Amino acid sequence: VKYVYDFTEGHKDLKDLLGGKGANLAEMTRLGLPVPPGFTITTDACREYLRTGSEPAALREEVSAHLAALEQRMGKQLGRGDDPLLVSVRSGAKFSMPGMMDTVLNIGLTDDSVGALAAQAGDERFAWDSYRRLIQMFGKTVLGIEGDLFEDRLDEARARAGVTSDVELTADELRKLVDQFKDIVREHTGREFPQDPREQMDLAIHAVFDSWNGERARLYRRQERIPHDLGTAVNVCSMVFGNLGPDSGTGVCFTRDPATGHQGVYGDYLQNAQGEDVVAGIRNTVPLAELERLDPASYAELLRIMETLENHYRDLCDIEFTIERGKLWMLQTRVGKRTAAAAFRIAVQLIDQGLIDETEALARVTGAQLAHLMFPRFDADSGADHVAGGIAASPGAAVGAVVFDSATAVARAAEGERVILVRRETNPDDLDGMIAAQGILTSRGGKTSHAAVVARGMGKTCVCGAEELRVDAAARELTTAAGTVIREGEVISIDGTSGKVYRGEVPVVPSPVMEYFEGTTRPGPEADDLVNAVHRLMSLADDARRLAVRANADTAEDAARARRFGAQGIGLCRTEHMFLGERRELVERLILAESDGEREAALAALLPLQQGDFTELFTAMDGLPVTVRLIDPPLHEFLPDLTELSVRIALEEKPSETDLKLLAAVRRLHEQNPMLGLRGVRLGLVVPGLFTMQVRAIAEAAARRRLAGADPRPEIMIPLVGTVQELEIVRDEAEAVIAEISREHGVELNIPVGTMIELPRAALTAGQIAESADFFSFGTNDLTQTVWGFSRDDVEASFFGAYLEKGIFGVSPFETIDADGVGSLVRAAATAGRATRPDLKLGVCGEHGGDPESVHFFHRVGLDYVSCSPFRIPIARLEAGRAAT
Ligand code: ADP
Ligand code: MG
Ligand code: MG
Repeated sequence: VKYVYDFTEGHKDLKDLLGGKGANLAEMTRLGLPVPPGFTITTDACREYLRTGSEPAALREEVSAHLAALEQRMGKQLGRGDDPLLVSVRSGAKFSMPGMMDTVLNIGLTDDSVGALAAQAGDERFAWDSYRRLIQMFGKTVLGIEGDLFEDRLDEARARAGVTSDVELTADELRKLVDQFKDIVREHTGREFPQDPREQMDLAIHAVFDSWNGERARLYRRQERIPHDLGTAVNVCSMVFGNLGPDSGTGVCFTRDPATGHQGVYGDYLQNAQGEDVVAGIRNTVPLAELERLDPASYAELLRIMETLENHYRDLCDIEFTIERGKLWMLQTRVGKRTAAAAFRIAVQLIDQGLIDETEALARVTGAQLAHLMFPRFDADSGADHVAGGIAASPGAAVGAVVFDSATAVARAAEGERVILVRRETNPDDLDGMIAAQGILTSRGGKTSHAAVVARGMGKTCVCGAEELRVDAAARELTTAAGTVIREGEVISIDGTSGKVYRGEVPVVPSPVMEYFEGTTRPGPEADDLVNAVHRLMSLADDARRLAVRANADTAEDAARARRFGAQGIGLCRTEHMFLGERRELVERLILAESDGEREAALAALLPLQQGDFTELFTAMDGLPVTVRLIDPPLHEFLPDLTELSVRIALEEKPSETDLKLLAAVRRLHEQNPMLGLRGVRLGLVVPGLFTMQVRAIAEAAARRRLAGADPRPEIMIPLVGTVQELEIVRDEAEAVIAEISREHGVELNIPVGTMIELPRAALTAGQIAESADFFSFGTNDLTQTVWGFSRDDVEASFFGAYLEKGIFGVSPFETIDADGVGSLVRAAATAGRATRPDLKLGVCGEHGGDPESVHFFHRVGLDYVSCSPFRIPIARLEAGRAAT
């Protein structure tokens, strides 16, 4: 293997081997830009060093050969002679990592060479400043000495000299500082600061290798899901000096504004400075535009180079440069990070400039960025009172009075008050309160906790797992880590994009992108260019995608919004939501019925209500498919809680007949594992008339709409099927009802009947099931639970944290589909289903339908559509387009 590449040998696509910095230094060199010569030691060498604990022999030789070539080329020797060569040793992994070792500059300076450097440059001060910087950086990053020890001496020197910045220190003062710094090194390492230039370089290289496994680096990689086995490259680069007086300096710049994407000159410059001075904030930098006045020639050259780089990378670049006595040098470039808004604007600008095509533009933006743009934001400059932080679970900015329970949330919201529901954690009972609240704050749980999942589904702001907060619902107060007590009714603001919690009301700015999707802002010459960029990219995605996008919606209001957002139908209407509230009592009557007569009466009371629901839904989605799932959850969910009911009855002097019957029913229906119990198709098979009532309501509503001249397109979906026999029975019953209603009204009803595929057995026998199904909809939530054998409601709190921490999975399988496990069942079932019935329609509903990575998977598997909550529809559209290009 080759361990070392000269800057003239590499190129930008070798990031795996040369790291991002090395690959781009090589690329700039190839482009003929002024890059100080140097070479890059590969990540292979780093991995080998970390594996064996020492430098491979071949590496040492190669470094020697490249150093000799560099010396030859520069006509100088590392740290020796009249004109000593100095180098920087710079880390640089494939992904930029703030947790890594810093760069060491001025390597090669010694007690001997410092004099030569001074003579060569004709500047004593400069030479001693460079030497003290070397010992300071080397001491801190290579020898591991506390950085403050050096900083304290520097402060003292400034104080002694009566100056405020280090440029004002004289050569003599800096020379004294160098002595003090060398003392620190001796005291803390028991040896002298190394006077052999090559030893300095080798130690710095090893320190970069070792920093790969430093604690901060490991932590950063875990958070960013960067693999631990990549290793880092090391760049050895000949020094150029920005600290050679007022005609020298160093700066950073962007080829366009990374915050907004707008074109212009963005950056900072610092005269007479080296390396980190610009970002360290020791002295005040000037805006890059000032450089035009300070050094017009270098400024003009920099602008030319910026253009070259943009045209070459065809993207926003960020740049680090240094000017040495009027000569410009490029020290780094990379495709720059940007905000979501900038990403959309830049993608469109680059199409217009002819730099990228439409496919490439779609690759440059993501659904996650789009999600970001859809939420309102807090005004960043408002000086808000930050009191706590948690996990940014569902983006947005919410303000409201603190409430600690659902009932209070509902009551206060009904009075027109904005509230934030604060809970230790939420559960299904909190649904009403969550709906009523502006936002949800919990002190426990992660990104897949109940609060987070439900809030994202509703497009509601949520901060969860704010562990430093003490939530005392009984006392109706909340205590921050700093001991501040916030009582019920006090206003707080929560930022679901950053996870921050503020006391008091932080002003909010609305999102123009959301207004665009809602249809209240139209694209056009008058509109914000961000709206136009989003519109353009959404149109490109819609043209490109093969996957249709449907909505999970149960109400006409949700359906209408989904349609505005671009939904092509409803992929999942959960009918159980229609049995809540006042209708719960009717379901109770159905469950308690002791005779056919009683049961029929209860069903007859439910029928017109259901029919009304469907009529509204078909109206909102006229002309588009509406997949109605028959009732799915265990029946006991519609009954009171066993403990509560027992207590209530125990307290009654003479319990009523009905109460006793109710208690008996609750006992009878109690299940240890309700999610694996009497629910879905199983209910339809054992509670006579329940499914047929629902089918009747659907068919009646459809028939009447049809007679009224509309175009209703219902589809009936049977949940939790495990075997084709279940489906056959239910399907026969359903078809009989549909035929009857069709005859009654004299209209032809063409209502497909299909099934959820959400049990492993269903997936494994999909070929048989397809004989009785017009379509499959993969219920990947339940399928994930049953394939992994873990309960979504429990695992999040008990061990997901540990699993994520240990890297068993990088992301919860409830958030992104587990392609290897659950996904391979989906793939197999799709193939088997289509083998039986080539025209079988295939879709997916559930959380995964709106998750970017999962959408790409469903595209690859060849499904026909994904279905997700209304707020995720634009994201699914964009990602489906990206997947297809
Ligand atoms: P980081 O990864 O933190 O950006 P760099 O390796 O880019 O670290 O080094 C930080 C800064 O040090 C650079 O921006 C540049 O100003 C300075 N620097 C690095 N190498 C040299 C060099 N050979 N000559 C002059 N300055 C250098
Ligand atoms: Mg840098
Ligand atoms: Mg299910």
